[in-house]
Amino acid sequence: MGGYDQTLRPFLWRAERLYPDRELVSRTHEGIERYTYAEYADRTRQLASALEAEGIGEGDRVATFCWNHHRHAEVYFGAPGVGGQLHTINPLLPPKHVQYIVENAEDRLVFTDPSLLEALEAAYDPDAFESVERFVVMGSEVPETDLEPVVDYESFVGEGDADYEWPDLDEETPAGMCYTSGTTGKPKGVEYTQQMLWSHTMATLTPHGLGIDDSDVVMPVVPMFHVNAWGLPFSTTAAGAKHVYPGPSPDPADLASLIEEEGVTITAGVPTVWLGLLEHLEDNDVDLSSLERIVIGGAAAPESVIRRFDDLGVEVVHAWGMTETAPIGTVAHLKHDLADLPEGERDAKRAKQGLLVPGLEMKVVGDDGEEVPWDGEAFGELYVRGPWVTDSYFKRPEANESDFEGSWLKTGDIVTVDPDGYVKIVDRAKDVIKSGGEWISSQELENAIMAHDAVAEASVIGVPHEKWQERPAAFVVRAGDADPDELEADLESMIGSEYPDWWSPDAFVFVDEIPKTATGKFDKKTLREEYADESLLEAE
Ligand code: AMP
Repeated sequence: MGGYDQTLRPFLWRAERLYPDRELVSRTHEGIERYTYAEYADRTRQLASALEAEGIGEGDRVATFCWNHHRHAEVYFGAPGVGGQLHTINPLLPPKHVQYIVENAEDRLVFTDPSLLEALEAAYDPDAFESVERFVVMGSEVPETDLEPVVDYESFVGEGDADYEWPDLDEETPAGMCYTSGTTGKPKGVEYTQQMLWSHTMATLTPHGLGIDDSDVVMPVVPMFHVNAWGLPFSTTAAGAKHVYPGPSPDPADLASLIEEEGVTITAGVPTVWLGLLEHLEDNDVDLSSLERIVIGGAAAPESVIRRFDDLGVEVVHAWGMTETAPIGTVAHLKHDLADLPEGERDAKRAKQGLLVPGLEMKVVGDDGEEVPWDGEAFGELYVRGPWVTDSYFKRPEANESDFEGSWLKTGDIVTVDPDGYVKIVDRAKDVIKSGGEWISSQELENAIMAHDAVAEASVIGVPHEKWQERPAAFVVRAGDADPDELEADLESMIGSEYPDWWSPDAFVFVDEIPKTATGKFDKKTLREEYADESLLEAE
């Protein structure tokens, strides 16, 4: 019996010893920066010892409010390595969500990028940020800011010791945290233990996970604040592969030049990013010869995108996951005995959300509480469980009652499973909208709209959109005879004062009544069925 606990530390140790000269490259505010695993490991130890000197240890949360770059990757191993918790915050969230998250998590330090200082200042509230002892700005200087106390990252790390000895940690020590907004009500915190991150990393290395190995050059375009960039910084290090970080809000031209210049073999992100790259490729001559695979997840990968990349010699690997599943749950690899299927049938399989990753279990539960057959037709809610699937939310007993059943996580995704085991999402039980990979709360928009005196009722749904996958559309019943154009302008400005631009509905439709269910709730299913194409948005 026995063995050593499952923690992240050995991944970094092995990369440093076996691949000291492999590179981590990152596009930052200062240009392209590159260094080796040997330097990465030194700097991460320095950071860790600086964190320890700051009093960070077990149970302490270290927040990051950052894009994808090497300094962020140092916090990925540094904070969990001292027993603390890496808490990535999504800087695109409405400021009041950021406040709620920092207060709920009781973050002690917040690392942020110079370009995100303004967004952090907008979210800052002395009460909500009471637990925050210091802000650390990524780079070697601190721009003008109201936040305090504040220090630049290089000075902070400069205080640390590159010979720092990592402590032994229990695998149950919380190592990470991420809030999900894919939910009704307030964002929910999911904690990842050392063991959860370890087992997720190992699963992603398998061929039926993402199959990363030491020949790979991995570029996570998925933001590092989205479920640890799908675990890629950990998996890439564990494999001894080269890291490429695209930095602050990369556009398709940035991605194309990084692929060409750094020889990227695997990249990953939501469909919107790849639609942007495909558009860029139409007018620009880009050498994609190094690129073997694009992992698309976070929203459904359109079959047309899979085909267009196939034509360019790049394999699209469609994956499904959730914040709650750390995140990778299914990957649409082709089973070896399906290799001879006609091309159309093969593509249809690859466009599904895919096969469960080794290590997890699933079941699909119908309305009657019974499991549905794997016949590709019967549908129900997907339940999953496994070593890297959470069994509870942080400080949310009511959600723990409703969203779990024993060891099973109820995903809120409605799926079919075909006889080969391929999961396909056909609907979503949760009342939220995912636009370009980011959640928008329909309920919050409804409340904001209904706060207007001239509005009697409002219902907001996600309408399919080619580029963003979904965009919000609001159905509004007026309380009097307000002029629709004026009311729309008013509502847009009310929403704009509280929420980021991208939350604002693309269409306001003034209707006499909103369909209701037998129990008097807004019947969004009917609305969605009625407006299941983009014509509504195009008409605007
Ligand atoms: P998040 O927790 O923000 O990662 O969101 C997880 C949710 O995003 C899932 O429960 C799905 O509703 C949706 N999702 C993730 N991946 C996919 C995918 N490949 N296809 C369709 N929906 C997806």
